[in-house]
Amino acid sequence: MAKKGPRGLIAFVCTICKSQNYINQKNKTNVPDKLALMKYCRHCRKHTPHKESTKLK
Ligand SMILES: [Zn+2]
Repeated sequence: MAKKGPRGLIAFVCTICKSQNYINQKNKTNVPDKLALMKYCRHCRKHTPHKESTKLK
């Protein structure tokens, strides 16, 4: 069993093409809000808004 802790794995999903481009970790205790960042999407081939998703593919 994996160690349980406040740090959860999250994915960043492109809001344009819905592809999961980045995987990150965050402390859900300190950062309860959903993150949204501008990141490069290689499918769109430009910077697009990426939304946090807890579903990892
Ligand atoms: Zn995209």
